Amino acid sequence: MLIKKNGITKDNSILSNPIEYLKGVGPLRADLLKKELNIFIFKDLLEHFPYRHIDKTEIKKIRQITPDMEYIQVVGKIISCEMLGEKRGKRLVAELRDETGSLELTWFQGISWIQKNIQVGQSYIVFGKLSFFMGNPQITHPEMDVLTMEKTEGRPFLEPIYPATEKLKARGLNGRQIGRLVYTLVGLLSEKDLPENIPDNIVAELQLLPRYNAYLNIHFPTGPAIHEKALERLKFEELFLAQVRLGLIRSNRHRFTKGITFETVGDLFNTFYKQYLPFELTGAQKRVLKEIRQDTARGIQMNRLLQGDVGSGKTIVALLSMLLAADNGYQSCMMAPTEILAQQHYTALSELLKDMPVQIAILTGSTPKAERRKLLAKTLSGEIHILTGTHALIEDTVQFKNLGLAVVDEQHRFGVAQRAKLWEKNHVPPHVLVMTATPIPRTLAMTAYGDLDYSIMDELPPGRQPITTVHRYENARPQVMDFIKAEIAKGRQVYIIFPLIEESEKVNYENLMKGYENVKAYFPEPAYWISMVHGKMNAEQKEANMQRFVQRDTQIMVSTTVIEVGVNVPNASVMVIESAEKFGLSQLHQLRGRVGRGAEKSYCILLTGTKLTADARERLKMMCATNDGFVIAEKDLELRGPGDIEGTRQSGMLNFKLASIVQDKHLVDLARKHAEILLSDDPDLSFPVNLKLKAYLQHQKGQTSWSKIS
Ligand code: ADP
Ligand code: MG
Repeated sequence: MLIKKNGITKDNSILSNPIEYLKGVGPLRADLLKKELNIFIFKDLLEHFPYRHIDKTEIKKIRQITPDMEYIQVVGKIISCEMLGEKRGKRLVAELRDETGSLELTWFQGISWIQKNIQVGQSYIVFGKLSFFMGNPQITHPEMDVLTMEKTEGRPFLEPIYPATEKLKARGLNGRQIGRLVYTLVGLLSEKDLPENIPDNIVAELQLLPRYNAYLNIHFPTGPAIHEKALERLKFEELFLAQVRLGLIRSNRHRFTKGITFETVGDLFNTFYKQYLPFELTGAQKRVLKEIRQDTARGIQMNRLLQGDVGSGKTIVALLSMLLAADNGYQSCMMAPTEILAQQHYTALSELLKDMPVQIAILTGSTPKAERRKLLAKTLSGEIHILTGTHALIEDTVQFKNLGLAVVDEQHRFGVAQRAKLWEKNHVPPHVLVMTATPIPRTLAMTAYGDLDYSIMDELPPGRQPITTVHRYENARPQVMDFIKAEIAKGRQVYIIFPLIEESEKVNYENLMKGYENVKAYFPEPAYWISMVHGKMNAEQKEANMQRFVQRDTQIMVSTTVIEVGVNVPNASVMVIESAEKFGLSQLHQLRGRVGRGAEKSYCILLTGTKLTADARERLKMMCATNDGFVIAEKDLELRGPGDIEGTRQSGMLNFKLASIVQDKHLVDLARKHAEILLSDDPDLSFPVNLKLKAYLQHQKGQTSWSKIS
């Protein structure tokens, strides 16, 4: 029986053989390979890719050696070989000479065996890592082979070096020895073991290496060019298969997942639009509403990702969509990642709807029990039309009479699994509208959310002045505080944000308190009033402090990043971020988005110490250079890599073995394009040219949990 995390199914391909069946492995090594590298079957070893190759195609003359070379290969004669030093310092030193100069070879281990075997006067091919001692080139523990004709001719390839752990190395399975096992394995395989899985027309169009060929050459290439081709082919394969799978989920949903039909745009929507909408919608808002309208009218479930920059006005789009649901007799919910934000949605929506016959309520983790019970009853009876809240909404006890639309605000805080839970809240799955807090890069969206349809709001409401962002060092604090005083004198309000430094709540708390005292020294009562919000407060305290700021009872809000997401106080015009070097780019942009929401000119001041890493400098520079969240998102991905972008880690869709959505952007695009064309022509994969792909995906399906992701 094979036991493996992802539950490999047995089949009769040689690649499913247990690893202990490979010559040179045996039970002990098999055990190590399983424990240390997760290599259970032949296929796993085949997919254990080398992290580098050492070029053995070239033989250097000793005089050509320069310090910037890493590994070198030379051919020469051993001139002398002697033991030097005493006890622990004992070593064997040999001189190797070719017609251009000489090189020192040194051994510290196994020296008596080597001394016995090495022949002075004999010619050798020597390979190893170059170092310099007192200006002279040397190699420690070189690989040596007696020079013969077939040895010089028989080695024109790049030698692969594989990842290995310390434990493996200690037990005699280092990167090179693993290479020998892979070599044995590859020798057992033929083309039929690695049949093509990309349609022939695409292979031909993109001039991809055939699959079998690519596997050979990713391990044992005969030169750098073919290795490059192998890598490209296998990366494309990974990305293409992922895009086809996501595309299938999407197109199957379009074709088969029954959805609620919102037949009409009714009184609620129209009345609100004509009488209570406080502003003209932007073109982007209108376009997205149209997309949502079309999506929800055709009897299939909507799953749409709405990307919009901070302040682009996503909330009103959500509200109008929820009114559309209500017009058709359905309930909606709107889920936010924090209590503060949920509360704010509730307040904002209640205000907008105050003269409308629409019942709206809020449910969070801190809703008192009795009230919660009443609320749940009203939700079940259908009395409540719109239920806002935190992820308390997805708990099983929350049941709707007929949930027609679920809006998820600030998606990056929610995992895919949580999104899926919303589906189960109605017997016909509700429409789902997912809204991001800040834009996510396109390649990331394509892969992490590739199963969703996609809308972009790339337009801010009119009349907004761009926020001026500056970077100031700690020693400019007095000037910064003076500037704040001047803004407050004009009637503006100010945020001062402190970072969450370590995991430790205590450190954060002390830090914030210190900051608070510091701010207070500049802004004493009763001339100034300060609100403070932090993670240690309960929801009520937070809310009370927020409200004081919202009502303009306080001019300054001192806070940790709990304020980060979504908070809307249009009169606030200055955002000061303390220790700004400690924040990530998208977080800085998100924080900056708290100002610039009204008609007044707004400022973001990034305060830092003087010691900055290169990356931190880059982030600060970027923030000062642009207000465009889409540009910032791309840069963030580039700086941090996909693994660190919040909320995408758990998506499980970015765990490519070879491809990187940062470095291989063009391949992501290419893969997406080809997958889209293929699926629009042949959504069932029934054309003869696509049968190999279909067979491959079906075979894989049993082996991974892909089918569960949606
Ligand atoms: P976000 O997309 O960041 O969630 P919000 O929905 O909170 O943005 O909107 C930001 C601010 O812009 C709010 O004060 C909102 O009332 C205002 N707003 C939204 N749409 C428009 C519009 N079309 N014209 C003018 N102001 C708008
Ligand atoms: Mg928002």
